[in-house]
Amino acid sequence: MTHWKRLIADSITTIGELETHFKMRFPDDMELVLKRYPLRINPYYLSLIQQIGDPLYLQAVPHLEEIAPCSFPNDPLNEANLSPVSNLVHRYPDRALLLVSNQCAMYCRFCTRKRLVGKKHDVFSQRHLDEVVHYLRNEPQINELILSGGDPLLLEDHTLEAILSAIYAVPSIDVIRIGTRTPCTLPMRVTSELCKILQRFRPLYVNTHFNHPTELTKAAINACAKLVDYGIVLGNQTVLLKGINDDAKTITTLMRALVKARVKPYYLFQIDITRGTRHFKTPLRTGFEIIKTMSGSVSGLAVPTFAVDSPGGKGKIPLFPDNSTLQGGYLEFKNFCGEVCRYPDN
Ligand SMILES: *Cc1c(COP(=O)(O)O)cnc(C)c1O
Ligand code: SF4
Repeated sequence: MTHWKRLIADSITTIGELETHFKMRFPDDMELVLKRYPLRINPYYLSLIQQIGDPLYLQAVPHLEEIAPCSFPNDPLNEANLSPVSNLVHRYPDRALLLVSNQCAMYCRFCTRKRLVGKKHDVFSQRHLDEVVHYLRNEPQINELILSGGDPLLLEDHTLEAILSAIYAVPSIDVIRIGTRTPCTLPMRVTSELCKILQRFRPLYVNTHFNHPTELTKAAINACAKLVDYGIVLGNQTVLLKGINDDAKTITTLMRALVKARVKPYYLFQIDITRGTRHFKTPLRTGFEIIKTMSGSVSGLAVPTFAVDSPGGKGKIPLFPDNSTLQGGYLEFKNFCGEVCRYPDN
């Protein structure tokens, strides 16, 4: 068994194992949480948790709040109804999302696809792939396909290779993007064998998902470096999470560290209103404040686009703090020092 598969196999998946590791008792109802939403913390990510309640612990360890009564929907982005063929979500004219795996190296407690990840259902098969390819051939306005899940890098190398070649065999597909949290949650997955396969499918964009500066370990930085060295363009999506990363200092530190690791901050997401994740939700003003604080005073390379995914599957909307007024032939705004500035527009 390769190293990364061994780490997955050795993951914590039960309350008993959690109790042994953290030397504490969890309430009995925690079993009910796990019945609805599975637990997986691999030994690598577990080793990064320094104490109970720290930012990594909160992302990984289940909480009773996940099963508290909640008006949030299971599928807030309406993905099930935007799916013309099984596993494909087609929401925008020019790009579509393909769910190729329901496995992850860790099951993040705040996950948007909590309803799917780690569940024993329909795995993505050759039949599904054939249907998707057929659909893409008939919808040539789709020129970008995003592989997501779950985590596409939890697939075997040869399975991923088969998917990438089948997709790039569709003439209208110009770009493939992979969304994966493995550089953060299981950097050992980024093996040379994998990189050699990925290298053959250009252009390939990989968006990873770091939420906190302590996740950017030496191993994680090396995994990112490896992908970049093999010609893959790396971006990052972060989710704002209450009590974990919801302040300008933490986000600025994270974004600067990502730029240093050759990863371009892409989106900073307001959390989706997914059932079982309400305890992670920050007020919108937190995100606006963070972007305001960063704009101008932090390198533009390090500032992501703050965005929300509209409930009901209406698409991602970039959110901008209202920082200017246009009147009397001038745009008036405050710069990063707080000085009032004017730009003539007549
Ligand atoms: C997020 C998402 C995309 C990608 O959107 P970008 O703004 O291009 O990153 C595409 N399709 C679906 C269904 C999505 O949820
Ligand atoms: S890695 Fe991504 S898809 Fe998997 S549980 Fe975490 S947030 Fe969800």
